[in-house]
Parts: sequence; C-alpha cells; structure tokens
Amino acid sequence: MTKLEGKHVFKFGDGQADGNDSMKNLLGGKGASLAGATLLGMPVPPGFTISTDVCNNYLATGDFSKETMEESKEALAFIEKVMEKKFGDLKNPLLVSTRSGARQSMPGMMETVLNVGLTTSTIPGLIEVSENERFVYDSYRRLIMMYSDVVMEKAAGIEPEEGHGIRAQMERILERKKKDAGCLTDTCLNVEQLKEICIEYKDAVKKTLGKEFPDDPYEQLWGAVGAVFKSWGGARAVSYRRIENIPDKWGTACTVQAMVFGNRGDDSATGVAFSRNPATGANQFYGEFLINAQGEDVVAGTRTPNAMNEASKNDQSKDLVTLEEAMPENYKELVEIRDILEKDTKDMIDLEFTIEDNKLFLVQHRVGKRTATAALNIAMDMLENKEIDEETAILRMNPDQLGQLLYPILDSKAEEKATSIARGLPAGPGGAFGQIVFTSEAAVEWKKNGKDVILVREETSPEDIEGMRAAIAILTARGGMTSHAALVTRGWGKCCIVGATGLDINTFEKQVTIDGKVYKEGDILTLNGTAGLVYAGELPMIEATENPRLQEFMGLIDKYRRLGVRANADTPEDAKIALDFGAEGIGLFRTEHMFYGSGSDEPLFLLRKMIMSNSRSERIRALQELEPFVKKDIKATMEVMDGLPFTIRLLDPPLHEFVPQSKFGQEKLAAALGIDLDEVKKRGDAIHENNPMMGHRGVRLGITYPEIYEMQVRAILEAGGELIKEGKKVHLEIMIPVTVGAAELRTMELIVTAVYEEVKERFGFDIPYMYGTMIEIPRACMRAGDMAKSAEFFSFGTNDLTQMGFGFSRDDIDSFLPEYLDRHILRNDPFASIDMRGVGQLIKIAIERGRKTRPDIKLGVCGEHGGDPRSVGYFHKIGLDYVSCSPYRLPIARLAAAQAGIREKQSK
Ligand code: PEP
Ligand code: MG
Repeated sequence: MTKLEGKHVFKFGDGQADGNDSMKNLLGGKGASLAGATLLGMPVPPGFTISTDVCNNYLATGDFSKETMEESKEALAFIEKVMEKKFGDLKNPLLVSTRSGARQSMPGMMETVLNVGLTTSTIPGLIEVSENERFVYDSYRRLIMMYSDVVMEKAAGIEPEEGHGIRAQMERILERKKKDAGCLTDTCLNVEQLKEICIEYKDAVKKTLGKEFPDDPYEQLWGAVGAVFKSWGGARAVSYRRIENIPDKWGTACTVQAMVFGNRGDDSATGVAFSRNPATGANQFYGEFLINAQGEDVVAGTRTPNAMNEASKNDQSKDLVTLEEAMPENYKELVEIRDILEKDTKDMIDLEFTIEDNKLFLVQHRVGKRTATAALNIAMDMLENKEIDEETAILRMNPDQLGQLLYPILDSKAEEKATSIARGLPAGPGGAFGQIVFTSEAAVEWKKNGKDVILVREETSPEDIEGMRAAIAILTARGGMTSHAALVTRGWGKCCIVGATGLDINTFEKQVTIDGKVYKEGDILTLNGTAGLVYAGELPMIEATENPRLQEFMGLIDKYRRLGVRANADTPEDAKIALDFGAEGIGLFRTEHMFYGSGSDEPLFLLRKMIMSNSRSERIRALQELEPFVKKDIKATMEVMDGLPFTIRLLDPPLHEFVPQSKFGQEKLAAALGIDLDEVKKRGDAIHENNPMMGHRGVRLGITYPEIYEMQVRAILEAGGELIKEGKKVHLEIMIPVTVGAAELRTMELIVTAVYEEVKERFGFDIPYMYGTMIEIPRACMRAGDMAKSAEFFSFGTNDLTQMGFGFSRDDIDSFLPEYLDRHILRNDPFASIDMRGVGQLIKIAIERGRKTRPDIKLGVCGEHGGDPRSVGYFHKIGLDYVSCSPYRLPIARLAAAQAGIREKQSK
C-alpha cells in the first residue's frame, strides 16, 4: 500500500476547521465549503472530511490505511465532544451522514448514506433522548433502505435486473404499507407501521442479498465510507465524467458529519435554496423545503415541496405554506446566511439546510448551477453592482453555456394561438419539439437513428443520464426545481420541464395519457422550457439572439482578446449572420458549395460536363460556360463582406463526387456531350478512386487540370474588379488546398499571377489579393518553411490534419471512437477538440517554420476546432492570428478567445 503524504482527515466544527474553502482538490467541493462556512461562523454541524487521496488509495488497494483509521477516530471524538453525544452510545447516540464530494460538483452522481450509527442497541437511547419514537423508526427505515442499496448492493457490484434491486423492492413495500394504512405521504405512517416496515426491509435484505443488515455502528460507518468512495467508479459517475470531461484520477472525498434531523416532527424541516433564481438569475432568494423530512425527500421529488417565500411559489406550491410564514425566525436567519455566503463567494450559491426542533443548520453550500440566461444575468448584475469586475464577469460565462443562449425559443405568436396540454416547472430553458420516448435506452437508440426525442419519465433520476444527454428535451411528471435531473439539465442548458401535472405515464405500454388523450412513443410534443408549458404536435421556433443583455455582455469581451475571429461561410446569407455575430472576415469560403443544394442545378450540370469532357478543349469550353456562375456566386458573398478579409479556397473535393449517379442525370449529360449512355458511365468509372480522400483532389486537380483553377482565379479577380468599379472595397485571399510542399505552391502561383496580370490589364487597375495555402497534411507542416516562400498566409485545415495526423477517417470514426473514449485510449474526440499532444505539435512546428521564413505570415485555423472553446484557448496560446468557425459558433469563439486573453494576463 502506498503511503500517503500529509493529513488524511480534516475536521470542522465549532468555529474551527483544519481545511478551508480553497482546498477543493483534496477535500472536494463539499468538504472545502463546509470548512470555509465553519470558519465564517455559520451553524454547520461538526464533521470531518476524508481526502480524495485516501479515496484513490482505497480504490487502488481496497482498504483504509492505519493512519486514515487513526485520524478518523480522533476526528470522530472531536464531533462527539462538540455534539455532546457518542457514536454507538447506548444512552445518547451520535448518528452521522457520509457524503461524497468531488472537486467539481457532480450532482446526484455519487452516493450518500444518512443516519449511520443507528442499531438495535442505539435505538432505545435515541428514543429516550429525542422523546420521539416515530422519528427514530423513520430514521431507521431510511438507513436500511439507503445502506442496503448503496453499500450492500451497488458498492458490492451487484447488478440486479431493472425493478428487482433492493431499493425498488423496499419502495414497493413502503407503497403497499401506505396504501394499507390509507396514507398518501410517508409522514402519515405511525410508529407501529414504521416498525413493521423496518422488519420487512431487513427480511428483504437477508433474502435478496444473503446477509443480515449490519447491527454494529462501526461496521456501518466504514461500509458507508467505502461505498461513497466506490461510487466514484459507479456507472452514473463515470458517464457524467465522460460528458463533463472530468479526469478519473481526481477521486471523491467523503465527508462524515453529525446528523441533524429535519424529520423530528412539525418543528423540523429540510430544504434546498439558491441565493438567486437559478432559472432567470433574478436577485431573489429562491428555494423549496419540506416539513418533517430528510434531505433526500426534497431532491427525490416524492413529495411536492413547499416554497421558501412568495417569490419561489409555483403552480404546485401556490397554496402551501411558505418557510417565511411557517418558521419566520429560521427564515430570517437563513436570509442572513445567504447574504454572508454570497458576499464571501461573490457568486450565486445553492445551500442545503436542516431545521431540527426550530434550530437552523447549514448542511452544505456550493456555487449553484444555473441556466445560461441566469448565468448571464447574474454576471451582469454583479458587475453593475460592482460586486465583481469585468474580467470576473467574462470568466463566469462558460462558452458552451453561451451557446445555449443562441438556441431557438418558441415563436410566441404561434404559442399564443396554441393551447397547452400540461404545465410543469420550467427547469431548463428554451424550446424544443421532438418524438416522445419513455426510457433512457430508447432515447439513446432513437438519437443514434437521427431522431430528435423528448425523454418522458415519471420522475427525474440520475440513472437516466445517458438518455437525458441523448434527448433534445426532458419532461417529467414529478420532481421539483431542485431535483437532481433538473440540476443536471440546467447545467447543460437543455430544455426541461419537471413536475408536470396530469401526466399518467405507462412505461410498459410506452404511452402517456394527458387529460384523457393518449400520446404514444414516437408522437411529437413541443416544450416551452422557459415557461413550463407542454403542447401537442410541433410548434415553430425562433432565434433567441435579440437579447439586449447578451449584446451588452458581448460588447465587453472583444477588448480582451488577441485572437481574431472569422467565419466559414459560402453564401451571402451566412455571411450576414456571421457579421451579426461579430465576424472579422471570412476564413473559409468553400467554392465547391455552389454545386450542392438549392439553385445548384445549372452550375452542377456544367461542372459535370467539364468533368466528363474527354479533351482539354472540351473541358475549356465547359469551364467557359461555368465561369459566369462561379463569378456571380463568389461576388455576392464578397460584396456582403465589404472589404473585410475574404479567404476563398479553390476546388477541393475529388471530381468523382460530382459524377451523376442517377440514370436521368447520366442521360442528360450524354445528350449534352453528344455521346451515348455507356460512354458516360465509362468516363465516370474512369475517375473512380479507391481512396478518394487521399486521391485526385485539391491542388492535385490544379496541377493536372490547370484550366480549372485558372477559371476560378479569373472569376474571383473579376468579381473583385467589378466590386471595386462599383465603389466597394475588397480584401481577397486566394487559398490552395491539400498542398504538401513548396513546388505545388510555386506551380499554382504561376497560374494565379498570369491570370492576375490578364485581369488587371482588362480592368485597368490593381485588384489586390494575397496568395496562401491550407495546411492540412502532416508533410506540409514539416515543409512549412519552404512553403512560406510563396504563401503569404497559412490556414490550418484541422479536420484533414487530424484525419491525416491520426490516420483516422473523419467520416467513419464513430465505429471505434466510443470504445476508445470508454477505455481512456483517447480523452476527447480529436475531431471535436484539438489533440494538443500530436496534431497541435504539428501546427506548432508549422508556425515556427513558417514565421522563420516570413515573419509577418498570417496564420489562422479553419477546421471545426475553430469553434471549440478548449481548442480556441490552445490556438491563442500557440500564437495563431485568428480562428474561423461556423457563424453560430462565433460568439463562443469570441468568448473563449477573450477568456484565454484574460487568463494569460492573470497568470503573469
Ligand atoms: C479542414 O480540412 O480542416 C478544412 C477546413 O477543410 P474541409 O473540411 O473542407 O476538408
Ligand atoms: Mg480539408
């Protein structure tokens, strides 16, 4: 067993703490914030946190070290002293909770066990001191359920079939008991009924798991701590980490804390609150609570929670008493705690509290998850009130989350005319429509088949994580705004409605009945996640960019970035959108795009004619016919850009992509060329390639058929000349794709220069342009020094550079990528986020060599990575001049670039 350095266990309580809130790596978010809150004088029940290092050691060795045991013993004695109770004591027993806590919050993904230390010997003592037998048996039945599920089943690696797990069995026992007793809620069960439940639970444990429920407090304690650590490796936690990019090596801490009881009767309660509204960001205390309950009841969504105050009320809680009304003193105290903690954190926080016999305790707090709208509003409000500075406000907005603000919302005019079929809580923002499915597995499966699905569930369960991820939106019949899945979807910015009333879901029949009408799997619903409204069928959506707060925020960021931003656009419409989103130019205009999609029939036919030509003269004739179309197409977008840099790439794909496959297309071509059908097929077959991605494409076409590039360059320069004549400005960059060395570039330069001279002569004035190349093949990176003799700019085509660098086909990687990710052979999809260690190094070499030859060479990226925040940070760091991405990613790229600039400044 490796010996761990330093302390293993960190105490907190009674105004003192071994740790503090900066020690998240070692104590996890929960342990660190509890230590911090204790030091601020908050009423935190005493406890201790066993470090993440101990977790990693435990997971490696399967045991606790002597030091861990000794330090824990001493820490437990500290809790006993503060609480004036003893763990395992027969007269006045101390109970503890064991909770997980990772460096980064992973809501609901790991395990918790409450009421640890309750045994047949400690029960009588607790009954005597609490004078509340019902409370003791209520706590005991909770312990048996949680412990047997978390420790004896999950941590032991037992994987029962769906519905046969120990928890599911116990839930059925509880439901039956409630039904027999005529009770709607757990709180209505009396002592005798609770006692019977405990006996039945223990029988179920013995029968299902083949062991007695442990009756020794220390066995319970160490079993629970070990299970918390093991839950780091549980399926839910692992898939959450994969989605959120959290490294496996972090481990979780385990906090052992004195239990305080919200289930001791009607003067006790438990709740969850946010210092500001997590959906809108409004500066109003917002939360939910339950009288006579333990924390799990609020998040499990099994009872409808009461609102903290008027501002927190919703359709379901509107007639229930608020905390402010029911326990005004405790509410006042909680408001003070909220103010102190928010001031200290300088951010919106969420907190969990327990009230035991009218005494308030803070059980945990952390920076709260929020929707993108709330994140934006909170950052801007705090900036306006001078609570944070501009740099902090900019760093607060996660670039991916910013992307959510650009997503569509329901068209309000269409919504006004429609009638909603159900209403729930607006847990995740925006609008969405999709086909309904009823299980996580179905959501994943349907998504794989290209379907947009809405996952409809009875209640939100963290076990649905993969399905939640796959779904475009989520709808549940139960659960509150602080239920686990609501927190998760809010973090993702996914449209989500929870606790929708009147939904009768039948998972087996794959249908939901709403107001007497049945909706089956595959039927379409529309959700307004911002208002919590559900509609039958599909409602239209609109863009959500006209948000003044967003414009204000975007107005702040540009001065912090060094990296320029351009768009990949090849139509005037896309160019206009790009300008609205702050593009400073076009980084990639793919000339071949005019041959796809609407309006492409005629140019495509002429291109095909050119491809199928049998001689140079035939080809030149076809190209002459095609040229006006090419010029018109390029000129339209060039005009929109009005003098901003405009990088036009000459023809890139292999020609066979354009060969007609349909009989009709082949016949039309045969007639145009005056040849028969068989000859068309023969000529088409002749240009077939086995490996077209590495075939006759890009500059290779320019070398073998110079007349193609000649025509394109002429069309570009003439378009520029015409615009200049019309009084417009142009800034052209002519780009050669798929090059591997300087000789190709020199050959193409001769063509470009010759055409330029000819066009200039005709127009009688200069049409300025720059000449450059894509760098998308590893050899080009190595030869960048030589290539920079001709090229005035490089644009890194990181899609192909990743393909060629890894030798992974960019079109087929899905066949093995999931396994590579699961088995940690790759950490990220390299086509989504740049591989800094390999492909990134190739780029660095090319930058260095290119700049050595031509110090002012312009360097950009135009692969998909230009819109990925993590990659943008890297491109900033290695000194590129700009990134180019699709128009809708521009705000994200701008923010990521600004954040990279701020972080660099702050690290100096
Ligand atoms: C690239 O390879 O990164 C690139 C931008 O070109 P394309 O995606 O058109 O191959
Ligand atoms: Mg490419």
